[in-house]
Amino acid sequence: PPLKSQEKEKEKQPASPPLPRQNAKIAPPSPPRVICDKSGRYQLNRVGFLGEGGFARVYEVKEVNGARLACKVVTKSSLKTKKAKTKLYAEIKIHRSLEHPNIVRFIDCFEDDDNVYMTLELCASGSLMDMLRRRRRFTEPEARFFMVQLMGACHYMHTHQVIHRDLKLGNLFLDANMNIKVGDFGLAALIENPGERKKTICGTPNYIAPEVLFDTINGHSFEVDTWSIGVILYTLCVGRPPFQTAEVKQIYKRIRDNEYDFPPERAISSNAQTLIQQILTPDPQQRPTLHEIVDHPFFTHGPVPSYIPTSAHDTPPDFR
Ligand code: ADP
Repeated sequence: PPLKSQEKEKEKQPASPPLPRQNAKIAPPSPPRVICDKSGRYQLNRVGFLGEGGFARVYEVKEVNGARLACKVVTKSSLKTKKAKTKLYAEIKIHRSLEHPNIVRFIDCFEDDDNVYMTLELCASGSLMDMLRRRRRFTEPEARFFMVQLMGACHYMHTHQVIHRDLKLGNLFLDANMNIKVGDFGLAALIENPGERKKTICGTPNYIAPEVLFDTINGHSFEVDTWSIGVILYTLCVGRPPFQTAEVKQIYKRIRDNEYDFPPERAISSNAQTLIQQILTPDPQQRPTLHEIVDHPFFTHGPVPSYIPTSAHDTPPDFR
């Protein structure tokens, strides 16, 4: 069945992507060079293009005072259905409610006749996916550094009843100091009643938890982010996601069968291997909590750098 999901990760992934969130086939016209809202509160100069996702294009913009921001632009023509509007409003409502040093800051949103605009903290250093492409894989101290920040952000989201549901390297942006900024709340869900379960099948194939795909009766909850965190840790250490194959169907089969291995030539530490195995537990109730993950020997018995040098964009840092 077709999935309501997104796939914009251009990792070396022959698997065909699932459906984009909107019919993104026709390129929308560019937003104006000078973006203004009706009240005249905003005047943003569009200075560059940063990227596009399932339903939005993201530009670099400059405020009159010279400050640089990211501006996510959604065309109103893509918001004709009630469903599309509801999704965008949910993204805005959730993202603007979050404030954490490792989450892309949501600044404001406004509209003109053609578009809805969201201004966001600018992450000019790209994503961990871009960095992985240059580096091929990360050292375990780097993995610990990025994971600690990711789990801090994730713990914050979960205590604010938000499930991200699309944690992956392409949605982990970096600021100028190599700190993680979790972005893209387009698939995030707010748990409004305790114990509530979500049933929408969404995510990105390589990172989807088994219960999202195979337990559509009971649904899923916060543990899907924990699963993605396990996939992210594996990917940082090994250089490719654990269940990756040429075809999406085969990825799902491997997720169902919990079929992955650690390539011996990568020499993944036994602590990393046991932690990944614990996180990638098929039963969401048996998965470790975020607290249990940071208490694992992988984190407590190995160096966690206090910062990552920017040279790490291209070359492995030496933490000796
Ligand atoms: P969508 O919700 O449509 O998937 P995203 O929020 O993932 O869109 O953004 C699409 C792309 O735009 C990203 O992959 C990234 O390249 C770029 N981008 C998004 N947000 C920012 C940001 N805050 N700073 C810099 N680039 C960004």
